Amino acid sequence: MSEGENSSAATFAATAIEGWRVETLYSDIAQAFKVKKVLHESATGKQDLAVLDTERLGRVLFLDGVVQTTEADEFVYHEMLTHVPLFAHGAAKRVLVIGGGDGGMLREIVKHKEVEKITLVEIDKGVVDFSKKHLPSLSDGAFDDERVEVAFEDGARYVSRFKRKTFDVIIVDSTDPEGPGAALFTKEFYQNCKERLGKGGILVTQNGVPFLQPDELRDTMTKFSELFEDHSAYLANVPTYYGGPMALGWGSDSARRRQVSEKVLEDRFAAADIKTRYYTPAVHKAAFALPRYIEELMPK
Ligand code: SAM
Repeated sequence: MSEGENSSAATFAATAIEGWRVETLYSDIAQAFKVKKVLHESATGKQDLAVLDTERLGRVLFLDGVVQTTEADEFVYHEMLTHVPLFAHGAAKRVLVIGGGDGGMLREIVKHKEVEKITLVEIDKGVVDFSKKHLPSLSDGAFDDERVEVAFEDGARYVSRFKRKTFDVIIVDSTDPEGPGAALFTKEFYQNCKERLGKGGILVTQNGVPFLQPDELRDTMTKFSELFEDHSAYLANVPTYYGGPMALGWGSDSARRRQVSEKVLEDRFAAADIKTRYYTPAVHKAAFALPRYIEELMPK
């Protein structure tokens, strides 16, 4: 066998040997992580939670056996699900995060000085407590920002309850549509998010990896097309969200938000003086260019 085949055979064998953790998102393919140390494992009553220290990716958070975030590549996802809607909006004052218990979204949002109020609604307090202790680099103190308030409840219930609350940007940083996350992929939830958006508001959502989870994006985009004047998806390349680019859903009743020019984005980005490792105004605009196999998932 060639060197490559040798190493893949060795890798495959290793996943059956102590010292590796195999992600269980799919029934027929998996990625494995060589574990340096299991920092913590517990059942929070809502989800099985684990944080492992790994050889190459730093600390990795698993929920119900699925990679949620890793220290090494979390910047990609957290920068793209915050800076794209916030720089597109340009004057967001009130931001709602549904999910996001690891605090990575908060860390990026608090860098926007124009934002006056950030509400994070997380169903599982265990994730917040746990991430503060075992993954402090993700929130990087953002939970202590005076603009941040945290509510521990189902995000679907929250947006259905507070009829008077409005937000300029709503970010759905959910798990996949299984277990408690399923409630965050319904048309009723998206309808309630739309009603919580102020004029020109933007809803963005985590919609999985279309190459392996095409239905997740197709279903959300079909619902967005029935609710929003402007709906689309944009892409972020997160190495540990296995299977190619990750899709992020976009819905707004103001088409000009998505059409904001690169020049305007550059001016806003320069004025904000935010250091990033993935987001740039050019990447922002390019992220909405969808390859054919993803474009075909969008409603006609
Ligand atoms: N970056 C990850 C991804 O793309 O899969 C998501 C990270 S974050 C850890 C996902 C969070 O969503 C978890 O903390 C989970 O507890 C939370 N969550 C799941 N269902 C929820 C619901 N119905 N309401 C609020 N939070 C929810």
